[in-house]
Amino acid sequence: MGSAVRRYGLFIDGKEMDSVSGKTFMRENPATEEPFAEIAEAQREDVDRAVKAAKLAFEKWPHLPPRERSKFIYRLAETLDKNKDKIALTNTLETGKPIRESRVVEIGNSVRTLEYYAGAATKLNGESMSISDDLLTITLREPVGVAAHIIPWNFPLLLSFWKIGAALAAGCTIVLKPATDTPCGILEFARLAAEAGLPDGVFNVIPGRGSIAGQALIEHPDISKIAFTGSTEVGKGVMNTASQSIKRVSLELGGKAPCIVFDDAEIEEAVEANLRGGFFNQGENCTAVTRLLLHENIYAKFLSSYIDRVKKIRIDDPTKEETEMGSLVSRAQFESVKSYFEKGVEEGAKVLHGGGRPKKFSKGYFFEPTVLADVKPTSTVACDEIFGPIVAVIPFKTEEEAIRISNDTIYGLAGGIWTQNLKRALRMAKAVKAGYLWVNTYGGIIPETPYGGFKQSGIGKELGTEGLEMYLETKAVNIYLGDKTPRWYKG
Ligand code: NAP
Ligand code: MG
Repeated sequence: MGSAVRRYGLFIDGKEMDSVSGKTFMRENPATEEPFAEIAEAQREDVDRAVKAAKLAFEKWPHLPPRERSKFIYRLAETLDKNKDKIALTNTLETGKPIRESRVVEIGNSVRTLEYYAGAATKLNGESMSISDDLLTITLREPVGVAAHIIPWNFPLLLSFWKIGAALAAGCTIVLKPATDTPCGILEFARLAAEAGLPDGVFNVIPGRGSIAGQALIEHPDISKIAFTGSTEVGKGVMNTASQSIKRVSLELGGKAPCIVFDDAEIEEAVEANLRGGFFNQGENCTAVTRLLLHENIYAKFLSSYIDRVKKIRIDDPTKEETEMGSLVSRAQFESVKSYFEKGVEEGAKVLHGGGRPKKFSKGYFFEPTVLADVKPTSTVACDEIFGPIVAVIPFKTEEEAIRISNDTIYGLAGGIWTQNLKRALRMAKAVKAGYLWVNTYGGIIPETPYGGFKQSGIGKELGTEGLEMYLETKAVNIYLGDKTPRWYKG
């Protein structure tokens, strides 16, 4: 995997460039711990240049006929699809995730999202209301303005395209700040988007620190809307900053998804789906099943089959096609996951598998798929978002108990329900306080469906038509059709 260090600039107004200060930062490949890329680091003045470019582009982009915007978005989907092998490799080298997940999941679903929003661009219709014979009201849907997109490192491409698709369809222009750990894939896409003819300034990318470039971006007076995906902690600060000038804000934050398996579930299917639920993307996944609730009648049977399969997960060099689990994204994430594991053991959980770096690796931030059983619902590993491959298994006896445990968290992003009893499935779906649920399956967020969290997992939705709403203002225009203005003043 060792090769020359790559170089990336900021991407502003259709061109790649250095930061004004000339500052750069290094990114290592987390699977090899070797230097991978040197990237220009945006400071406040670079953020300002990017926002200016986006503001200028906003003078034209929303005025293109929707059909033309739709064609541009579709062209971006084609460009991404044509270059999927190259960008997937970059994505794998900077995140540590398996190449198959980069290509099929990140890029495959990014293409699908762009295609969905290419279609949506031509369907932004307002309403008309006949208030009385003399008064007709129409509503106009207008793009909110320049959008700031702040992206985490776990799905650097997919989470960007969820936002990019909706913003471009609505007529907004974009300044995107990728996570410091994962700026390279989206910068490569920016180069390709310019080659594909996307007008200058419509899409700008400013890699840099959250506390510097991110903060400058969300404070910028010419930003009208912030779409943020990241931790609940940083999200609270974003909301606070947005409040200073009442910027529109949508937040996709942390999660602590429960997956509830009843004793009438198809066990082998549930085992299969929960492997993905817990360990897909190395568990660095906001919808990861981190609380696996098993009914006491099937507790032992489920775990025996589950552990058997967990042991067979292929953890290896993420660039290999057959690899099923790669490395965590960074040393910091590895240390954090390891300390959660230790805390779990300290608090009495039983280790069924995993707990550290597999012995076959001498470097790289690889962490075994880890299963902790008999976890108390109030313990740290059952409450905190770990964002790594640790599944906490919790037994339950009754439906009421499963609901209580599931909802006893500050989060409410996602969850799973396994039962063949339709009435119980629907009762549970209504009772679980989370924004995105799966019944008798787990994982896969579909562009047509609205996605977003309850409680401290966020505000607003991404994807679907609701995702588009987040980039639109509604203007009501009242049109008087009578002959004479009604008289109020008598003189
Ligand atoms: P994070 O630490 O909150 O960072 C997210 C992004 O915000 C990064 O680009 C970060 O830049 C930037 N940032 C940090 N401080 C900022 C500030 N003051 N102003 C503006 N931007 C700032 O999250 P992460 O560690 O990258 O990702 C993991 C978290 O994301 C988890 O909590 C996970 O649950 C959440 N997540 C949620 C969803 C969802 O859909 N709900 C999806 C994926 C991930 P730096 O990289 O420079 O710190
Ligand atoms: Mg972080």
